[in-house]
Amino acid sequence: MSKITLKQDVFLAALTRQWQAFGLTSARDMTRHQWWHAVSAAVAEQLPPQNESVSRKSKKITRHVNYISMEFLVGRLTGNNLINLGWYEKIASTLEQFDINLTDLLEEEIDPALGNGGLGRLAACYLDAMASVRQPGTGYGLNYQYGLFRQRFVDGKQKESPDDWHRSEYPWFRHNSSLAVNVGIGGKIVKNDQGVSRWEPEFTLRGEAWDLPVMGYRNGITQPLRLWEATHPHPFDLEKFNDGEFLKAEQQGIEAAKLTKVLYPNDNHQAGKRLRLMQQYFQCACSVADILRRHHFLGRKISELPDYEVIQLNDTHPTIAIPEMLRVLLDEHQLSWNDAWHITSRTFAYTNHTLMPEALETWDESLVRSLLPRHFQIIKQINTNFKKLVSKTWPGDEAVWAKLAVHHDKQVRMANLCVVAGFAVNGVAALHSDLVVKDLFPEYHQLWPQKFHNVTNGITPRRWLKQCNPALSALIDERLKTDSWVNNLDLLKGLEDGVKDKKFCKQYRKIKHDNKVRLAEYVWQRMGIRLNPDAIFDVQIKRLHEYKRQHLNLLHILSLYRQLRDNPKLDIVPRVFLFGAKAAPGYYLAKNIIYAINQVAEKINNDPIVADRIKVVFIPDYCVSVAELMIPAADISEQISTAGKEASGTGNMKLALNGALTVGTLDGANVEIAEQVGEDNIFIFGLTVDEVKAELKKGYKPKAVVKKDKHLKAILDELASGFYANGDKKAFDLMLNSLLDGGDPYLVLADFAQYCEAQKQVDKLYRNADEWTRRTLLNTARVGMFSADRSIRDYQQRIWQAKR
Ligand SMILES: *Cc1c(COP(=O)(O)O)cnc(C)c1O
Repeated sequence: MSKITLKQDVFLAALTRQWQAFGLTSARDMTRHQWWHAVSAAVAEQLPPQNESVSRKSKKITRHVNYISMEFLVGRLTGNNLINLGWYEKIASTLEQFDINLTDLLEEEIDPALGNGGLGRLAACYLDAMASVRQPGTGYGLNYQYGLFRQRFVDGKQKESPDDWHRSEYPWFRHNSSLAVNVGIGGKIVKNDQGVSRWEPEFTLRGEAWDLPVMGYRNGITQPLRLWEATHPHPFDLEKFNDGEFLKAEQQGIEAAKLTKVLYPNDNHQAGKRLRLMQQYFQCACSVADILRRHHFLGRKISELPDYEVIQLNDTHPTIAIPEMLRVLLDEHQLSWNDAWHITSRTFAYTNHTLMPEALETWDESLVRSLLPRHFQIIKQINTNFKKLVSKTWPGDEAVWAKLAVHHDKQVRMANLCVVAGFAVNGVAALHSDLVVKDLFPEYHQLWPQKFHNVTNGITPRRWLKQCNPALSALIDERLKTDSWVNNLDLLKGLEDGVKDKKFCKQYRKIKHDNKVRLAEYVWQRMGIRLNPDAIFDVQIKRLHEYKRQHLNLLHILSLYRQLRDNPKLDIVPRVFLFGAKAAPGYYLAKNIIYAINQVAEKINNDPIVADRIKVVFIPDYCVSVAELMIPAADISEQISTAGKEASGTGNMKLALNGALTVGTLDGANVEIAEQVGEDNIFIFGLTVDEVKAELKKGYKPKAVVKKDKHLKAILDELASGFYANGDKKAFDLMLNSLLDGGDPYLVLADFAQYCEAQKQVDKLYRNADEWTRRTLLNTARVGMFSADRSIRDYQQRIWQAKR
């Protein structure tokens, strides 16, 4: 199969049907939003049906990958799909006949924000890459009615509102009613006359399949992202009505609709709520049923499941799929425990995304038992069987069992279940995968060393370079005399000798400048703040989290501000500090940090002493589309997490690819970025993982750090003085208490001095424009390994298609 060709006449006919459906008399009567809808729907119509009976010519079996994730942060699809199809230019010129600008039109799309941050965006990048490298795959997720909340600032404080992305009108969806699945929940285990027990659910939900097409890059492949919507199986059940059961059923209908209403807004933090477990189970039951349906449809034996299918769990959120698979095999297929276990334990693989205890999911046994009584039995059986192995390896060692058990202390531990029942576990960057083995799962590693892998995260170059930075993409095409870097990102190496080409360097630098002008225009339009495109654009964009340390960035800003007031003639390179971040609505400390940054911004941006040498801009409602605007305009990429806390990061990769220099700690994938770009082309600072551990062990005292640093003390005192909050001395108490009395668990103050020193180096280097350009160009040239295509090939070699 090769490219899908655009049929112009079919497209125009489809467009006509669209405006007719809007009740209009001509295409020219459509609003811009209607245009976006009509063009998207007309293109979507031309996609081939997704054929399930893919007959592969090669004899080698390629396992089909089922990527289950609670989140897919796909971002806008119309532009991306047109690029991957190779239709962008043709559609753009067709629309010119109607005086319609395609680029403007694409701005009409509401981001499908069905994810929180990095984890959900990773899932989206991986689907793109699987389709592009011809790895057969299906994404499985939930069709939330409301994606991640919309963020505004009112007097500097975050306010949330629902993100209604109008899923019912989304033109890329294909509803496949023949794939609907019934899912039982609650109820009890009953024994029949023969003493065989059976699960009798309390009520049944219906899962409707909504598919988004995932297109490979110009290779004719489309694969589904299948998102399940919960509905009631009997919208109006006459029989139940007559039985007087109607009201109860109707009530269940309301429950059903609730289930896929909204995405939980926590990032790296588990909610522990009943509805969340219901979402997880609903998604997993639908997905497992669908995987088995396809397997049977293709005429394969149930025992062959692991030969043809892999189920990749994106974090522990879909872990309940494991006992669900066992339940179906045991209770519906009547397999023995051994046979069911043999199949299941060779099918599931698990990606770990964090070591932080608050993010490792555990569920109260009472909750699991009440919602999923049969699954609870199965989990206990897994636990009992596993205990035999542990007792053999560590006889009489209760402490080790207390750590390794899947069910312990009235809790079900999802990560442990994944390791015990899966055939592979991977971390998401080299450093993180090391810590998964050494700190999180050392005993599991002792039992099953072959299960543990690293797959360093990656990003799709289609969205994160070709689409978001068209000018740079065109320059690269011209320089390399090919555009095949788009699916072979290592080719960017060929740009390295461009550092010696003055004209090329000038073009490269101009593109960055133009991208900064584009972002400045957006900030002016939306926020009424003027930015100087010659200033350093210093960018920190990511979820707001203590471990990501936006407040360390803030302290550096305050340090510069103090220096300017102490010495108004101080010579610093003008800098714009740009932030983008949402805080989980219940994470008050994170919201307090947002408030502090906004209040400091207000002060600094309006202080004549500063004279525009510093600007602080917190762009509201950070999301994929905002990222696409900010990343190409960044000079500095802030990747300043406490070492050991950021599993990988992917924002770091996007920014380096687009020619920002990283200021970062030796954490997550920063370590590998430093290896790739070379230590001269990155600003590394701060405590290492081992130093962080040593510091905490010896009893880290943040107040001792402050005592020794008068400048830091003055900054913190001023924050507590009401100076930035119209006299409110308590305004930033949450943040300040965590840094001081709270013991500064993320070692912000411990890294402050080194961070400021790194920033001085940034200032110094930026004054040498040629040298700066050389280093940023080397970043673009040397980060090819962070393509999601490489990640997918690593998954294939190490996990999905590895010899067994
Ligand atoms: C890439 C991305 C992230 C992840 O950023 P990190 O810096 O790796 O945490 C979060 N949100 C959006 C919208 C992204 O595009």
